[in-house]
Amino acid sequence: MDFISTFDMFKVGLGPSSSHTMGPWAAARRFLEVLRSEGALDRVARARVDLFGSLAKTGKGHGTDLAVILGLCDWDPTTCDPAAVHPAVAKVRAEKLLPLAGGRAIPFEKGDVAFHLHESLPFHPNALAFTATLDDGATRAETYYSVGGGFVVQEGEDAAAKGAGPDVPFPIESAADLLAACRKSGLTIPEVVLRNERAARDEAAIRDGLARIWDVMRGSAFRGAYAEGILPGGLGVVRRAPKLNRSLLGDRAEAASRNVDAWVAAMRAGGGEFHAALKWLACFALAVNEENAAFGRVVTAPTNGAAGVIPAVLLHRVAFHEGGDEAVAPFLLTAGVVGALFKKRATISAAMGGCQAEIGVSSAMAAAGLAQTLGGTAAQALMAAEIAMEHHLGLTCDPVGGLVQVPCIERNTMGAVKAVTAAQLALEGDPERAKVSLDAVIRSMWETALDMNSKYKETSEGGLAVQIPVNVVEC
Ligand code: SF4
Repeated sequence: MDFISTFDMFKVGLGPSSSHTMGPWAAARRFLEVLRSEGALDRVARARVDLFGSLAKTGKGHGTDLAVILGLCDWDPTTCDPAAVHPAVAKVRAEKLLPLAGGRAIPFEKGDVAFHLHESLPFHPNALAFTATLDDGATRAETYYSVGGGFVVQEGEDAAAKGAGPDVPFPIESAADLLAACRKSGLTIPEVVLRNERAARDEAAIRDGLARIWDVMRGSAFRGAYAEGILPGGLGVVRRAPKLNRSLLGDRAEAASRNVDAWVAAMRAGGGEFHAALKWLACFALAVNEENAAFGRVVTAPTNGAAGVIPAVLLHRVAFHEGGDEAVAPFLLTAGVVGALFKKRATISAAMGGCQAEIGVSSAMAAAGLAQTLGGTAAQALMAAEIAMEHHLGLTCDPVGGLVQVPCIERNTMGAVKAVTAAQLALEGDPERAKVSLDAVIRSMWETALDMNSKYKETSEGGLAVQIPVNVVEC
């Protein structure tokens, strides 16, 4: 199969959803590319977007309509100002004009983004189709699938051929391959992954890319820790991270609000005794996912709904263990390759596998990163990932109101706690005596995904979602 880079598993973007916001956004920009390459972009008179399956059922709460509008405007989610997102969409809606690819304005009515609540396409539950009507009445259409984690596949595209990527020194298709590569080469997991990454980009690009990921991760936690208020969407969810942050920092909270370095220094000065460290872990995870729910800038890791787990565990590692920021690169490289194994051999899409594919995978990734950077062997790091996933098997996805808030935000705290516990168990454990391998738990997760009732796969038709009716406010 293809090489999946650390930078595929960690992507800078905007909340609240990788599959329902980032993927559709990317699909819209890919459709613009098609039109551009065919010389049709300047002849588009109207554009229409049809959303199917899970994208239709939870798209309103997940901001899918907003994402496709901004995608068609050719906004870049990695660099745009998050505060400008809602005003820009409101302007398109009020004026009924959409600046296609940032240029010529075309008429755009509310019904031009259509939610087909009772229709799904066979390839994947997250499907969307774009149709452009040209000046002469001809149409050009493409269908895309948002397959989780912001990855997008175009109808008819050979995904394996497209992503084939560079020849890497250590082809890794399974946890067994990864362990064998480490044992044969005498390298650690992050060293093996780094050698593979070098086949795709130079050392400086890798270093800068990892630093940028970390910068956005800790920035999202910092902003979330100081952003008070109620989350958008109509559910009335109050942000909880700021209160927890204040209670942990006491009279140091204001000075720590200066910047992210001052914040980390203040929490470190307070010490990491058990209860405080546990509360900080929750604070980090809440903060990131409250930012995510508020359409803030986060790192997809490996999805947006689960974007808080890895930053929480890594911040915890940096703030309360020896080595500080030295742990960041090996942590991310280890977590990334574990996430890639799940993507290759199972799924990271909640619409395919429920929440085990989001929170479960992020917890497994974080557990491996933590075990690795606390001195574990490759086998212990993979054992940590296995333990973390083992205790997320079967976890369903049933977001209330289709919003990435309840149970999603709290669920990140649970994923982070399980990751830390899994790493601790693995560091004290003997992988040779483990009964379950990481490859076995990945297989089990995939089989569970296939058997899971579709109402628990990001449709808001089961579980908690049907217990608490809510009117979703249009973004
Ligand atoms: S329940 Fe889990 S998988 Fe579903 S939207 Fe929330 S975080 Fe994502």
